Amino acid sequence: MIYRDFQNEKLSALGFGAMRLPVIDGNDRDIDEAKTQEMVERAYEAGINYFDTAWGYHGGNSETVLGKCLAKFPRESFNIATKFPGYDLNNMPKVKEIFEQQLEKTGMEYFDFYLFHNVCEMNIDAYLNPEYGIFDYLMAQKKAGKIRHLGFSCHGKYDVLKRFLDAYGEHMEFCQLQLNYLDWTFQGGKEKVDLLNQMNIPVWVMEPLRGGKLAHLSEADEKILRQLRPDEDPAAWAFRFLQSQKEITMILSGMSAQDQLEKNLKTFAEDRKLNETEMKAIEDLAERMLSVNTVPCTACHYCVTHCPMGLDIPHLISLYNEHVYTGGGFIAPMALSALDDDKKPQACLHCRSCEAVCPQQIRISEIMSDFAERI
Ligand code: SF4
Ligand code: SF4
Repeated sequence: MIYRDFQNEKLSALGFGAMRLPVIDGNDRDIDEAKTQEMVERAYEAGINYFDTAWGYHGGNSETVLGKCLAKFPRESFNIATKFPGYDLNNMPKVKEIFEQQLEKTGMEYFDFYLFHNVCEMNIDAYLNPEYGIFDYLMAQKKAGKIRHLGFSCHGKYDVLKRFLDAYGEHMEFCQLQLNYLDWTFQGGKEKVDLLNQMNIPVWVMEPLRGGKLAHLSEADEKILRQLRPDEDPAAWAFRFLQSQKEITMILSGMSAQDQLEKNLKTFAEDRKLNETEMKAIEDLAERMLSVNTVPCTACHYCVTHCPMGLDIPHLISLYNEHVYTGGGFIAPMALSALDDDKKPQACLHCRSCEAVCPQQIRISEIMSDFAERI
């Protein structure tokens, strides 16, 4: 196992994500505890010392099961991370109640890492609202030794990340982002990493394989990669891309079977950063994948002043791309829910005055209809 330095501690570069644990009869809430125990033991013995769960994973059962699995190991020999579930606004006034339940559910006396979960367009105002007292409460828990390191995960755009950092950045010890070789450009991953780097905040990665999508490439694309590294499969390439980014400390992988765990352990047994040629190959691959599936908006904003409804067209197109490319998912619906109704795709009048000025000749009006229908 390779390790990364974090505040005089050694963290395994691979973290065990407990959001896709093995389940019984396909029921997400019904975790197969025996199989999970086996996987956690194997991970621990192979040197993984970071285990990531959350209030909402597996219908609330991930924290309980992971806590049970880790109970047999000396407490100081592993790190457990969990999160405050601010992705649901109903939870905002309940930080104390939820935090206390999390300690009880996991059977832990303290959490090594604790995150504001999923800071995004929909909840940033609430997260920053002092009336809920979330930040103050978590800082007090840190002082009391119940949280060793405080951080946050973010699915929001750059501006949301910036707002959160402007408010709490000096107290944030790490930030968890959706990063992989597609989102490096697609979701503005690189800019977000640069911003965090400027503030000396280490980066944690979630969705390194974009929900498994990057583990399966077309035959032609896989062949290109195999010519450069015959012994590495597409999943290993995705991890190698992330290992090659010096700002990244932790890469989380949600593993649901022993064979996935074994493959990941093999990949993280050594640091094999991509060289220049290999990096170029993966960047080209990302470009090819995105060009086939996404609308080529360059965010030049020429169209925006021509829209009688004042729609933020490039923003909507970037959400559309995310939604279509991911095949659904929660990011776009969540971001749209933060917009007023007259700024959503369905407010488009189909006047096409935006299309007349778009240098990419994008059929914006059709995109808005399609987006409205999909959502
Ligand atoms: S077609 Fe829709 S998005 Fe384009 S200018 Fe008209 S209202 Fe705005
Ligand atoms: S003019 Fe075209 S490319 Fe430019 S922001 Fe609008 S939709 Fe995107």
